[in-house]
Amino acid sequence: MAKSTFTFQELKRTNHREIKEIQDKKFRAFIRYQVWPNHPYYRKLFKDNNIDPYNITCIEDWAKYKVPLVKKIDYRENLQKFVLNPSEVDGKPRESSEAISNLMKYSNESGHKDLAKFIRNNGAKVKLGIGKAGATARLKERATYQFSPLQFWFSSGRASGLPSPVFLTRYDNDLLYKNCVKVGQMAIDPYVESGWECSSMNLFPYAPHLGWHAVNLGLKQLSKFYVATSAGGAIPSERLVELAGLFKVNSFAGMPSYLRNRFFRTMKEANDYQAPEKNVLLLAGEKIYEPAVDDMVGTLEEKGAKEVHVVGGYASSESKISFAVQCDRHGPYHNVSPLMLAFELIKFNDDGTYDFVSDDESGHMCLFHLDGTGTVFEGFLLGDVASHQEKGKCPHCEFDGPFFWDIGRTNDAQAQMDIMGMSEKKIKGATVNLTALREMILSISQIEEVQIEVAKEDMSDPYSMDILNLYVAPRGPVPGDYNSLILEIQKTTKTNTEVTPGVTIIGFEELVERAGGMKFMEIIDNRPKPA
Ligand SMILES: [Zn+2]
Repeated sequence: MAKSTFTFQELKRTNHREIKEIQDKKFRAFIRYQVWPNHPYYRKLFKDNNIDPYNITCIEDWAKYKVPLVKKIDYRENLQKFVLNPSEVDGKPRESSEAISNLMKYSNESGHKDLAKFIRNNGAKVKLGIGKAGATARLKERATYQFSPLQFWFSSGRASGLPSPVFLTRYDNDLLYKNCVKVGQMAIDPYVESGWECSSMNLFPYAPHLGWHAVNLGLKQLSKFYVATSAGGAIPSERLVELAGLFKVNSFAGMPSYLRNRFFRTMKEANDYQAPEKNVLLLAGEKIYEPAVDDMVGTLEEKGAKEVHVVGGYASSESKISFAVQCDRHGPYHNVSPLMLAFELIKFNDDGTYDFVSDDESGHMCLFHLDGTGTVFEGFLLGDVASHQEKGKCPHCEFDGPFFWDIGRTNDAQAQMDIMGMSEKKIKGATVNLTALREMILSISQIEEVQIEVAKEDMSDPYSMDILNLYVAPRGPVPGDYNSLILEIQKTTKTNTEVTPGVTIIGFEELVERAGGMKFMEIIDNRPKPA
């Protein structure tokens, strides 16, 4: 019973053992017929480590055969080699018949029955020479749909220039379309039976990240009415709250810090805003803190809401086509597409090897793709940690599948170096490589020295918005006229990090003293930690 994907309803009634069985079957087919022939990075990795990809029969075999895990830095330095490319093998052109045969085998063994049938029918026509031109054109068109990159999400920051892109094909886009709606279905599930209908609002920032686009695709399918906006920038918060009132929005999706510190704060002050009776809050993109959620729920209740169902979503640019989502504010994160990708927790052993953790053990989040084209990751360390994972019946909902608890960023700089091979900070949901930023700022000829500070808008409130401050010592005298320099610094920073910084011009001596004297702190994270 090969199957390529589950709908929300199917997922709800399928037992975790069945899910695991189909998941491994699909993983096996993906490694054999897509990754091994078409993925330049893993093909070399398998060869270099004398691993026979045909030995890999389940996800756990990754540890059994000691396949090296991939760190963010490995990806950053091999962007092109992570894209599935059936037209080449080991740097040489490949016969298209061989490429098609691989796709055929993958389709057959992974439950993609329609694709298998399509290739079989057109392949037969080509072989027999009956309607050959038409069949060849159809196969070619399908290959473009399946493998040609169409767009990208930005992943982590590179040493210089733009963040590294993760490529999606048209095929990926269609998978994303099917998967993102399941996140919304999970969020509204408790209300559906009562006939409640969703009027939703997208409040994620508009950027080439997974968040806004996935929520846009999902809400459009799910909602009776959908208010497609974006957080900050285009429309002021006052107007967004007015729109929410006007269209009786009962489902809000966005990043917790923006929603709590801008949108709901504005709502609180809007005298004429009336909240619907039942509401849904979908939060993602940042760690979700209880007191911040309490504030948002409190505001809705103050405005007349009787119920607020809050869920958190988990994804990354690298997960590309799917997500995990909580069934309840206090519930675990469920993988809504276990046949598309697997989120697995791993631990490192003292001898440098690694293992998959058992239930009730915390671990590092590791991503395995089971479907999709474009950029593909297997055994990829995302840089997040979860307290534990389970496979079985959820204590909060009807799902009986893989789930994990309490996901958060590996924040300590040394731990980040170990897990990702680089250190990065998330600021307002954007991943920022501050080391690279410092280098870019220092390359401006008028600048002598700079200290980068990550802080909070309100330093007494750990849940307030992140801000970025640059303390800059110019080569010229201080005080002086540095307006154009400040603008240049702000522009460089905004271009490279998506964040506009506060810039303070100070004298060199003062800067050195401020930054710790002999122990100069080039980059400092002064954000107060939540209790
Ligand atoms: Zn659940």
